[in-house]
Amino acid sequence: MAGASEDRAITTQAPRVSAVVPCYQEEATLPELHRRLTGACADAVGDAYEIVLIDDGSCDRTWETIAKLSDADPRVVGVKLARNHGHQIALTAGLELCRGDRIFILDADLQDPPELLAPMMAKMDEGFDVVYGQRRERAGETWFKRASAKAFYRLLSRLSDTPIPRDTGDFRLMSRRVLDVLKSMPERQRFVRGMVAWAGFSQVAFPYERDARHAGETNYSLKKMLGLSTDAITGFSIVPLKLASWLGFVFAAIAMGLIVYSLASWLFFSTVSGWTSLIIVFLVLSSVQLLVLGVIGEYLGRLFIEAKQRPVFIVDRVLVGGTEMPPKLRLEEASGSSLA
Ligand code: UDP
Ligand code: MG
Repeated sequence: MAGASEDRAITTQAPRVSAVVPCYQEEATLPELHRRLTGACADAVGDAYEIVLIDDGSCDRTWETIAKLSDADPRVVGVKLARNHGHQIALTAGLELCRGDRIFILDADLQDPPELLAPMMAKMDEGFDVVYGQRRERAGETWFKRASAKAFYRLLSRLSDTPIPRDTGDFRLMSRRVLDVLKSMPERQRFVRGMVAWAGFSQVAFPYERDARHAGETNYSLKKMLGLSTDAITGFSIVPLKLASWLGFVFAAIAMGLIVYSLASWLFFSTVSGWTSLIIVFLVLSSVQLLVLGVIGEYLGRLFIEAKQRPVFIVDRVLVGGTEMPPKLRLEEASGSSLA
């Protein structure tokens, strides 16, 4: 356990860099992550850094591992969420609590090399507010994951007016003022990389090779990936809603034509029992109606979630250098933002 005076120094002085790492079932990678990340931070900023590890309600020994690291290293801030909130919300909790002038976001599984902190800091010194990692390679990922990610980024950039960079995850370095913009965005369905792009300022890509996972397996199931993509699209585009009305128009026009056609055949030709055409018209129209309703439902559901104004995340415990902090106090201390 770190000494009290050291603790106080760490809680009152803003570090130059906060590394923010959401962790879900990462007990196997955390010691190695800590070793490499402390090395990378020390190289970049000496000892003026903190490492914020957020346990996103893991069922393995992730929290115990974080607590042990925090005991041994006064620069480790451990945050335990009350349950699994998902990657983007865990990240939001870390962003809310961190105090650094610059914020370095990376995954716990070492797919994003921590050693890139120093070159990303150097890039930022050139006058950028966001230096985002852009993947050149995705080692150790399945064909399906790579193809679906690629298709998703292309679709998103077509649908959204916000220029969300392609092949870019949350791995990035950003300035405090960009973080302040993020913290002023109270939405619950958060697609952090899109929100950073939306903030603007000067942003620059930093191409890198994405490594394979250090240990364990991806925690992003197909369901979570679909959820994230839907949050991204509905959060950054109203094109699907417009699509619903376009489809409505197109099919209304087709339906008018069909009505004219059926009236004409009734008037001028002998009307054969047109079961096939009837059933086709019925199927097409009812499926389009369902589609349109579904799109409206997606947005309505999201409006409903936002309207409830629930807290975005719930903090169970906070450890700073092994010392327990009251989560409430720490949140207010750290930000005073609307999210807390
Ligand atoms: N993660 C999280 N909560 C979740 C799922 C994942 O905090 O519910 C974290 C995970 O520990 C990792 C990051 O989010 O640090 C990315 O997850 P993962 O590596 O499983 O996704 P992938 O890299 O395969 O997209
Ligand atoms: Mg990963």
